[in-house]
Amino acid sequence: MKHLKFSVLPGDGIGPEVMEVALDVLASATKDAGYALDYSTHDVGGIAIDRHGKALPEATVKACEEADAILFGSVGGPKWENLPPAEQPERAALLPLRKHFSLFANIRPGLLYPELVAASPLKTERIPDGIDVVCIRELTGGIYFGQPKETRELEDGDVEALDTMIYKRTEIERIAEIAAVAAKSRGNRVCSVDKANVLTTSVLWRKTVTEYFKKHYPEIELSHMYVDNAAMQLARDPNQFDVILTENMFGDILSDEMGIICGSLGMLCSASLGLGKNRQDLPFGLYEPAGGTAPDIAGKGIANPCAQILSGALMLRYSFGLNDLATRIETAVRKTVEQGVRTGDIAFGNPSVNTREMADAIQKNLK
Ligand code: NAD
Repeated sequence: MKHLKFSVLPGDGIGPEVMEVALDVLASATKDAGYALDYSTHDVGGIAIDRHGKALPEATVKACEEADAILFGSVGGPKWENLPPAEQPERAALLPLRKHFSLFANIRPGLLYPELVAASPLKTERIPDGIDVVCIRELTGGIYFGQPKETRELEDGDVEALDTMIYKRTEIERIAEIAAVAAKSRGNRVCSVDKANVLTTSVLWRKTVTEYFKKHYPEIELSHMYVDNAAMQLARDPNQFDVILTENMFGDILSDEMGIICGSLGMLCSASLGLGKNRQDLPFGLYEPAGGTAPDIAGKGIANPCAQILSGALMLRYSFGLNDLATRIETAVRKTVEQGVRTGDIAFGNPSVNTREMADAIQKNLK
């Protein structure tokens, strides 16, 4: 048996509920292929604040350092929302984790099965076959991290605030590489999104991406689009895109828009890949559902576990190199939805199953 060593951080709200069943599905899929899950579970987010006084305890970070990947649930909830912003679970746990492990590349598949088009706010005739786009977002640079970042009082009594948007060529090249690899496994098309008509960083972004693809991936069809147009085009005709490549803030906004047009957050997974290689000589990564802790349904056992299960599949693909096993899980999820087995968020008023029943049906379809 080969061991797959990762850290499990279930977090708050529905996090532990969907994590529990996702681990069962992962165990079942990998066992047949001769792999054993070797994981330990650690506190993060609100529960870590309650138990250890901080959202990201040192012991959690240490356990993650010793693992080859992190399977993350979600953090936050009403109990902690009155804390100062810097102590809020999401900001005090996820951002430091991204920074600590240099998770510079966020991969967000925007996949909506044809059976679920009714979950999308878009008109169904625009997306008769569902949606299939991937957004590759730079995650550790740009205006969210650039320095200086400050608020200052002016001599005339006015106040001004400042953020700095900054990118290096090497930062742009390494995220361009991730987009190129993603495009090669799909439709071979990349649309790089920027604001090169206004921003200096975007001028460098466009030049660097153009040169990088010309030199290393001339076979990939590369196009460029301004971010304001990209936001409109996503809502008008999302399938015109194959892979969207963009910087941190634009990616934050566009990937959330993509999440909305793809219907339920319960179906959407994501991967954030790091700079270094793990002990398997593959990228270290953090894998998590796109949604949050869903306080409105937490504790009821009815959350959709698909996003967590699909995040586990991404972990197998990127951090353990087990592409076939990842595809097997993705196919089982798809088949389950095709069979009409649905949690409440994707049932459209029809009878629904609970979290455990959904996972059991997926597990059966692995066979
Ligand atoms: P949310 O994503 O938790 O919920 C939005 C809606 O989507 C809710 O109606 C919820 O029931 C539904 N939903 C989400 N995931 C679902 C699932 N798996 N199955 C069925 N329905 C699902 O967003 P929110 O309500 O804005 O945030 C709630 C909390 O989560 C906040 O504290 C927020 O800070 C936190 N949050 C955390 C993360 C993260 O950990 N990465 C991301 C987003 C929000």
